[in-house]
Amino acid sequence: MTTSPHKIAFIGAGNMTQSIVGGMVKSGYPSDNIYVSNPSPEKLEKLKSNLNVHTSQDNQVVANAADVIVLSVKPQLMADVCAALKQQVSNLSDKLIVTIAAGIRIEKYRQYLGNDIRMIRVMPNTPSLVGKGMSGLVADDRVSEADKAFITEAFDGVGATLWVTDEDELDILGAVAGSGPAYFFEFMASLQKAATALGFDRDKARQMVQQTALGAAEMAIASDLELEELRKQVTSKGGSTAKGIEVYQAADIDDISGQAVKAAVQRNQEMA
Ligand code: NAD
Repeated sequence: MTTSPHKIAFIGAGNMTQSIVGGMVKSGYPSDNIYVSNPSPEKLEKLKSNLNVHTSQDNQVVANAADVIVLSVKPQLMADVCAALKQQVSNLSDKLIVTIAAGIRIEKYRQYLGNDIRMIRVMPNTPSLVGKGMSGLVADDRVSEADKAFITEAFDGVGATLWVTDEDELDILGAVAGSGPAYFFEFMASLQKAATALGFDRDKARQMVQQTALGAAEMAIASDLELEELRKQVTSKGGSTAKGIEVYQAADIDDISGQAVKAAVQRNQEMA
């Protein structure tokens, strides 16, 4: 990493923390500046032995040691975890607070932790667990550009990052990128079923589908062309792909995606 190393504490040592910390250390972040807490010792032992970070079963120990705190527990535990931190950490307003929990708005954290906190919300997605995540980020207006650069680099370690302007936009990003892996899995599963229905065995059908998804994604990333143009390039007039595409277009795939994303945005807003 190129930004100046803060002491950063992760509250919760679950899958997401393990991936982010792994990505940071791999990118050259000094493990001596990373602290992780978790109530049970097993995940901490793994992190300590694999990455040599500081660990504790006590949240207040790591929170007090750091100047950046990343809240990485399940949303339903957040109120209790924050209430305890407010009691146990005296200078929360001097620290940058980052949360990766879905659905909880910055306003709510102000109620939990105090009105004077400065805060970044990050919405990672599950491919972060394999280093191919798409994380959306939003900051309140007290967060400095240097803080933003630091957190951008931390989350670049597990994929790509995209800053949005406000929490409403983060809800939309959540409905596209957060929920998106599920949409792609649904589509991939339906293609796999189509292949098995025509006689392919499951393993071959799955290999065919997943490699095609990977190839299409990599082509899209490598190209400057619009996605629609890339699609046209593999659709010869009167050919077999054109016949298949006609079926999707007749079912109005744009409308289906539009409805799916709107439904997910609405749910994100209901849960906020
Ligand atoms: P996880 O269940 O793997 O990890 C949560 C960890 O918190 C567990 O190790 C648990 O033991 C620990 N914990 C429980 N109570 C605690 C406490 N009081 N203090 C400290 N630690 C405590 O969950 P995860 O997948 O790593 O997700 C972490 C957060 O990230 C969640 O808020 C989740 O909504 C969010 N998130 C996850 C993903 C994902 O792909 N996994 C994507 C987007 C957002």
